[in-house]
Amino acid sequence: MICLGIESTAHTFGAGIIDDKGKTLANVKDSYTTVSGGIHPSEARRHHEAVCDKVIENALIDADIKAHEINLISFSQGPGLAPCLVVGMEKAKELSKKLDVPLVGVNHCIAHLEIGRLLTKAKDPVLLYVSGANTQVIAYEGGKYRIFGETLDNGVGNFLDAFARLLGIGFPGGPKIYELALKGKNYIELPYVVKGMDISVGGILTNLKQKINSGSYKKEDLAYSCQETVFAMLIEVAERAMAHCEKNELLLGGGVCCNKRLQEMCNKMCNDRGSRCFIPLNNVMVDNGLMIAWQGILEMRNGTKKLNKVDIRPYWRTDDVKVDWR
Ligand code: AMP
Ligand code: MG
Repeated sequence: MICLGIESTAHTFGAGIIDDKGKTLANVKDSYTTVSGGIHPSEARRHHEAVCDKVIENALIDADIKAHEINLISFSQGPGLAPCLVVGMEKAKELSKKLDVPLVGVNHCIAHLEIGRLLTKAKDPVLLYVSGANTQVIAYEGGKYRIFGETLDNGVGNFLDAFARLLGIGFPGGPKIYELALKGKNYIELPYVVKGMDISVGGILTNLKQKINSGSYKKEDLAYSCQETVFAMLIEVAERAMAHCEKNELLLGGGVCCNKRLQEMCNKMCNDRGSRCFIPLNNVMVDNGLMIAWQGILEMRNGTKKLNKVDIRPYWRTDDVKVDWR
């Protein structure tokens, strides 16, 4: 069985192709970026509409297969931005009809975890999923993927992007803040906000804004201090989830986990507690079609799944997903 998966929850339109043995055949994407300013859902939608056919065509070329060799189409049903999700769903529906193959909508957050398990060989990890809109600590327990910690306001990626906007350095901000932080030398105290298993970043952004406006701090030091503080918060909740679930594997997912400093901190925490840290390649940690394709295979390869209602689910919760492939 060969599945083509379509990702379009936010800034990225991606198409991935994988077979039921887990062999990657293609993973192509095109992401909407801006010079300044953040992501405009309607502009992102126009971006996706403009690139979708080319991305899918390139995925087929990379995989060296013809469209009629595809046996299954999957797409990211949510969570995500409705205008963006619609583009992926419409393309997926169109292809499924044209090729006369089944269509399955999958959960984006869980797809991050499952592609990580496939490609890193982690068996039963706690996923630290840190992307633009999402920041969640997820683990499989009692027959479900449960959220053991999450942000109470913004995703850390969006927070970093907002911070980058305040600094006037463009979108996506994460990589730029990382570069700036390398040149930071002085740690400036910022609010550290962990509430039980959850984190919050809204107050930190306000605090950073005040510090930028005061003109008394170097932006390199602010970038460095921001990373140290917020990443420490992520490590704390991830470690607490590992202890609580008695799991000794940590898996990283989401664009922010491409950050080398965050990876270093995760590795250290895992070493200190005798656990292992699994870090997939960047091209599967960021949003991508491959993970959607693999999730489609997982949900359909037993051939038992009743197809879910084909519509987008912008607010779909990880713990609302019925798991029948594990
Ligand atoms: P995703 O939604 O998973 O594709 O992740 C997007 C987020 O990841 C954006 O907020 C980016 O700023 C952030 N990001 C991407 N690459 C990096 C990086 N190298 N370091 C930190 N953040 C990053
Ligand atoms: Mg994501």
